[in-house]
Amino acid sequence: MFHEKNPKEYHSAIVDVTDKCNLRCRHCFYFREEHDSEDMDADEFLGGLKELRDRHNIMSMGWCGGEPLFRMEVVLQGLKLFPLNMIYTNGTIPIPKLDNTIIAISIDGPPEIHDTIRGKGTYEKIINNLDSPGMKGRLVLFLSTINTINASHIERMVKALAKIPIFIIGFMFFTALKEYRDVRGYKYTDEQKTTFSLSPEERDGVIHRILELKKKYPHRIFNPDRTLELMMSQNAEACTSKCNMPVRTLTLDLKLDRKLPCVLGRGVDCSTCGCVFPYLQQAKKEGDPESVALKF
Ligand code: SF4
Ligand code: SF4
Repeated sequence: MFHEKNPKEYHSAIVDVTDKCNLRCRHCFYFREEHDSEDMDADEFLGGLKELRDRHNIMSMGWCGGEPLFRMEVVLQGLKLFPLNMIYTNGTIPIPKLDNTIIAISIDGPPEIHDTIRGKGTYEKIINNLDSPGMKGRLVLFLSTINTINASHIERMVKALAKIPIFIIGFMFFTALKEYRDVRGYKYTDEQKTTFSLSPEERDGVIHRILELKKKYPHRIFNPDRTLELMMSQNAEACTSKCNMPVRTLTLDLKLDRKLPCVLGRGVDCSTCGCVFPYLQQAKKEGDPESVALKF
């Protein structure tokens, strides 16, 4: 378990609860790397989190995986340990009613594109699960990872979701590894390495389209304008090279050891970062009101 000689404060943390998942998505950032594949004993895991919470003053926890809801009992107990929680789920498992918890559901396109990336029938399962007790009547937060397969379908994706009464969607971009190695049981290594990343020009083009979509679908797209501008090729490196994710958020693996630089993996290539975080951090530093209003 992670132990710092002089413990620092990390108000937020993210943990891999389990390496189990019912899907094998083509752009997955978890299964593309080797992991210690044994989940920790539940009591030991929860006890360790409590210890880390007290030692580092952790106020919010992100529950990741694998698919965190595969360890539903552990997550349900774990949610009680932190004032604020966020569960990152693939949305295919019914979601119970949860307090003090934001549910982030991954969605990667209109139905047929999402299913191409995540597996047949997965889009429909998500939509059906929005009727589960935990989701009915509450704001749905979708997160979408843009790559070469879905980049030209984002407007159709938002249009398809617009039937849902209350939702918001955040766009990220596929982030590559510095180096790929074959991993047993994961067959998309070559595809990730060769075809998933957008070129800087393609990514800039998508960002322009997202900015246009924000005007067409007001209050539906989460990314503040300034963060999108900062994601563009001429600005991105200045943000990613200063990313303070490793010192701000305690990212933990299955054994509660430190996972650095961040949840996207030990071998992640920060120069291709498509996560909102470094851009949001910079936009907040500049005092951009839309970004400052986001409380994470
Ligand atoms: S649902 Fe998440 S953890 Fe599971 S394969 Fe897809 S991206 Fe990976
Ligand atoms: S991948 Fe992105 S969010 Fe993660 S440490 Fe690198 S720059 Fe920061």
